[in-house]
Order: sequence, then C-alpha cells, then structure tokens
Amino acid sequence: MARKAKNSFQAPKGTSDILPKDQKYWEKVRDVTKKASLHYGFGRIDTPLFENADLFEASVGVSTDILEKQMYVFRTRGKDLVALRPEGTAGVARAYVEDGMMNLPQPVKLYYLGPMFRHERPQAGRFRQFNQVGFEVLGDIDPIYDAQVISLFVRVCGDLGLKNLNVEINSIGCKVCRPVYRKQLLKYYRSRIKGACADCKKRIKVNPLRLLDCKNEKCQPIKVNAPNLIDNLCKECHDHFRSVLEFLDELEIPYSLNSHLVRGLDYYTKTVFEVFLEDEHLEKHSETTHKRSKLAIGGGGRFDNLVKIIGGKDTPAIGAALGIERVIDIMKLQNVRVPDIVKAQVFLVQIGDLGRKKSLKLFNEFSKSGIFVSEAFGRNSISSQLRIADKMGAKISLIIGQKEAIDGDIILRDMETGSQEVIPIENIIKTVKERLKK
Ligand code: AMP
Repeated sequence: MARKAKNSFQAPKGTSDILPKDQKYWEKVRDVTKKASLHYGFGRIDTPLFENADLFEASVGVSTDILEKQMYVFRTRGKDLVALRPEGTAGVARAYVEDGMMNLPQPVKLYYLGPMFRHERPQAGRFRQFNQVGFEVLGDIDPIYDAQVISLFVRVCGDLGLKNLNVEINSIGCKVCRPVYRKQLLKYYRSRIKGACADCKKRIKVNPLRLLDCKNEKCQPIKVNAPNLIDNLCKECHDHFRSVLEFLDELEIPYSLNSHLVRGLDYYTKTVFEVFLEDEHLEKHSETTHKRSKLAIGGGGRFDNLVKIIGGKDTPAIGAALGIERVIDIMKLQNVRVPDIVKAQVFLVQIGDLGRKKSLKLFNEFSKSGIFVSEAFGRNSISSQLRIADKMGAKISLIIGQKEAIDGDIILRDMETGSQEVIPIENIIKTVKERLKK
C-alpha cells in the first residue's frame, strides 16, 4: 500500500535553511576568511564531510561528549562504518599524512570552511548541522605559531566587525607533566566527589581533566580550590606557554588566563584557548539566542600528538575553529553593516514572441559584459513588468516589443523620471554603461 503523503515536510531537527536574504552575511564570512588566510599564508583545504568512524575515535577521544553522544555514525552499503565529521581537525590531520604534506616545507598552514555535524539537543545557538571556519598549522612546535593562529582568529573576527572579544587561554601540559597533575587532581577530588554533580562523578573515572570544565553550580566551590594546572607544568610547557603570552602581548591581543579551561577534545596539548564575546546585548537577546552575557564563538589549541596517533610521524601542530552561525548572530546583534549582494540595476521588459526572443539573447550579452540585468520572462503585460522593475529598484528598464525587434531598436526608460528614448540595439550596452555611471 502506498504511504500516505505528508501534508508538508520540515528540515530535520537542528538544521535550517540559509535563505537569500541572509546570504550576504555568509558571503562576508567567506570573503573575510579567504582574504585573511591568504595574507597569513594559509592554503584552503576541503576534506570529505564523512570519514571512517575510527578516525574520530582515535583523535577526538572515546570519553568525550562528541564521541559518546553526538556523532552521526552509520554503516554504508559496503559495510564500512563511517561518521559525519563532528569537527575539522581530524580530517585535516588525516589528509596531512595521507597526501604526503609532511614532505612539503614545514609548517603547512591550512584553512577550511564548511559544515560539521553533531547530534546535540537542539537549543538556541546549537545546531545539529553547523558551519565552522578552521585554521591549522602542522609541523612546527614554535609558540610563535600559537600566537599567529590566535592572531588570525582575532583578525577574522575584527574584519567581520565584531567587538568586545576576549581570548581566554591556558596550557594543559604534555605527556610528561599532565599525568603528574592528573594524579594530584584525582587525589584532591576523591575526597570531595560525593558533593559533585552526576557528570563529574563520571568524569573522575573517564576524563578527570574535564572536572575543571564543569559548569554545574554544585561543583563550583570544589573547582575553585582544585590544584592549578599552570603551576604544575614541566619546564618545556611552562616556557612554551610563557612565550605564547609574550607574543600575544607583542601583538597587543587582549587575553585572560583561565586555569580551568581544558576544552572538550582529548587531542589537545599545551596551549588551549577559547574566544568569547562579552556583550550586555546578549542578555537582551536571550529570548532568541543565548542566556549568558558571554558567548563562546570558537577556540582551539595545540595538538602535538594527533598526527602520530593517526599513523603519521611525530608532528606538532596548532589550530582553531570558529562557529559561523554564532559569528553571524553576533554581527546582527552588534548591527554590523554588510553590503547587500549586488542587485540588478537594469530590468528587461519584453512584449510578444519576437520581443521575448530578442530579449533572451540580449540578457546573455549584458551578463557577459558584466552588467546585472533582471527580467520577468514569464510576464507579458508591460505594466506588470514595469511594476516589478520599480519594486526591485531598477534604475533603467529596457523595453523591447514587436516593432522594436523588427526595427533593431530598444526603448530605454529612466525609472526615476519616466522619460523614454529609442536607442539602436547595437549601442544599448554602451549607452546603459554610460547611464549607470551617472
Ligand atoms: P568547539 O570546537 O566544539 O569548541 O566548537 C568551536 C565553535 O563552533 C564553538 O565555539 C561554536 O561557535 C561553534 N559550535 C560548536 N558546536 C556547535 C553547534 N552544535 N551549533 C552551532 N555552533 C557550534
């Protein structure tokens, strides 16, 4: 039996359409990212939207929220287990190894832009399909690159017109100092875990560092007195972190130290950072967006072990990603002016079969000469076409009917004054160009 047709379909939960009226913001983000990345020497990379699921298991980490709850994993017809990418770094690191980028002069600087997928509980500012811009520098441990990635991140936000940004930064150490700190942290929490939230009771078993990240009110008094990671770094991590901060000072990038910042993914080492927007308007906007006056727009960190974990050589790396939907939300909230996508200033009006034929060809010629022209080929009446031209704010309408088509002419109508003149069709592009310049 045929299935009953649904009355209407809706986009899947947590996804949305980007309509033409919003495209100018997306164009702006793409444009600014592209230009800034070029200036900083980052080449574009596009990796597949899905990868073998075990890539994320190896890189993102099994005890992270992403892997535990948020990944879209499915078996293909060929029985491969694949996952829609929940983040961009793992795919980039895989490509670095697979495509032999370690043989290029190091470091290799890459940027990406595109959709990510996380099966989150849909809520304001959190989607199941969302877009990120990301930057990665692979193949150099120098702290100057940590500063450069943060600087590029801040530059992109600045070029997009965002104000009141703050970088929160921390170092989470390396293979040498983190296990020692982890022990201290466990010792401190063990006697206090009874009073902690249910999530922390899990975290202490699977990923103790995430205890520092807990937002639950109940856990805040415990967190405040927890041993501090920065005070427990080994000499190498300590010096590295100090240099990162010195470079940020040199670049005059404001930041605050946050010893509780650990970030959600397992692959981070040394520097981690998150960029927040602090704006009183966020609260006013709380009905429709976020209930806090501080909103994370992105973050990143070093991932010195990742490339090796996924089968490459030991390759230090640093990267960051920002959420495009959030950035656009903030651009709107802070009333950033974004120019409209160029609209047609010329409208082509056609009447009768011959007029329509001629106008179709003329439309292509205008387009080739770089002048945007709009039309309503489906309409026949001159008055309805002129009404449309008026509505879309055309400066000039070009009218071609049976008589004009036979005589090789066209009528040029100035939409502001309503005055009309007959122009030979072979001169029309040149004439329109001159008129638009005025
Ligand atoms: P993360 O690497 O998880 O910290 O994500 C970096 C940025 O991506 C966040 O600060 C957000 O701006 C954005 N982001 C992450 N998850 C989502 C989501 N589910 N919906 C919308 N934006 C997101």
